[in-house]
Amino acid sequence: MVGKLELKRVSKRFAGRDAVHNLSLALGKGEFFSLLGPSGCGKSTTLAMIAGFVKPDGGDILVDGHRINDVSPQRRRIGLVFQDYAVFTSLTVRANLAFGLEVKGMKRSERRRAVESLARQLDLAEILDRRGGSLNMSEMQRVAMARTLATEPELLLLDEPMSNLDAEIRARLRGELRQIQKSLAQTVFYVTHDQAEALSMSDRIAVMRDGEMLQVATPDDIYHRPINRFVAEFIGDPPINLIPCDVQIDAMKMAIMLRGGVTLPAAIAAIDPGRHWLGVRPHNIQLVPEGGAGTVPSVLRFVENFGAKHVLHVEYGDDLIRIEAAPGARAIGTTLYLRFDSARVLLIDRINERVVPFQRLEVAA
Ligand code: ATP
Repeated sequence: MVGKLELKRVSKRFAGRDAVHNLSLALGKGEFFSLLGPSGCGKSTTLAMIAGFVKPDGGDILVDGHRINDVSPQRRRIGLVFQDYAVFTSLTVRANLAFGLEVKGMKRSERRRAVESLARQLDLAEILDRRGGSLNMSEMQRVAMARTLATEPELLLLDEPMSNLDAEIRARLRGELRQIQKSLAQTVFYVTHDQAEALSMSDRIAVMRDGEMLQVATPDDIYHRPINRFVAEFIGDPPINLIPCDVQIDAMKMAIMLRGGVTLPAAIAAIDPGRHWLGVRPHNIQLVPEGGAGTVPSVLRFVENFGAKHVLHVEYGDDLIRIEAAPGARAIGTTLYLRFDSARVLLIDRINERVVPFQRLEVAA
């Protein structure tokens, strides 16, 4: 079995332009690893290099330490599921699952056992005799997965497998896919532009932009400790607030001044004085009853009602800030006082866009 897949400084150029640049990553056995990034950032090219359909221009792809750059796709023991999953609609589910095994030359009795075992694991046993064309989206997706898993790939590559599905089905499939992956201890490399999919299913996520890997980390770290502005903004819904601020450094003290006059004192950090951003996620802002030390006065402009929560859009000086709040009756134009969760606020350098670790001190008015 494959123990470890590694990419070491892998690059691919198309028409003189880097589609993937010096990309390094390592995948452990049984890991659910997502490659996340916007359209055109190089995700599919990376996946195609792992599968063996595209040859890297530079760097090494290693399995258990052995270089596989020149190994043909057929010999890589890799399974692929794409966005347009290939389920034979005129064949039964049973025939769909048996297809790859037949091609491999497996005997009929063994094939039957393999298909039935897989059908039990993927909750398809009840529909083995239904035709592919009569399945709903969730069933069809599981059949596509099962067909690929039947060939016992050591690594399963999934390229945006849910992007053609309705939001409600996608939400359900996220849970199903993760459960199947865990129960089979299947190593999965999952390509997506959907941050919710990556956050909800993965053991680790790699965020990519313009062919470059920006950060590889657990969903919690990617969400709470993004490395830079791009990762901070790409992850999270509703998106993080970027609030312009002015960093003042005086002797051994630092102060982060917001435009509306609020000051947040902090221990000195590795940032030049001047204009930067404060990154605050909408659910890390509390509404407090009265103005006071460190609170931010704002005016309610718009409310998005999501039933279980409201997203409030408030104006603070020239800035608009989004806040996640419990539902409640709030009149447009009301003054709301905000308090930022000091442990969760990010300081983002305006020059290099990196998140700068810093420590807030006591709150002052
Ligand atoms: P999407 O989600 O839109 O497929 P992606 O993140 O998977 O995007 P890639 O498809 O890997 O990105 O493309 C990365 C870059 O390489 C893009 O600029 C794309 O236009 C270019 N590219 C990809 N394949 C080829 C090719 N065969 N020939 C020329 N350019 C290509």
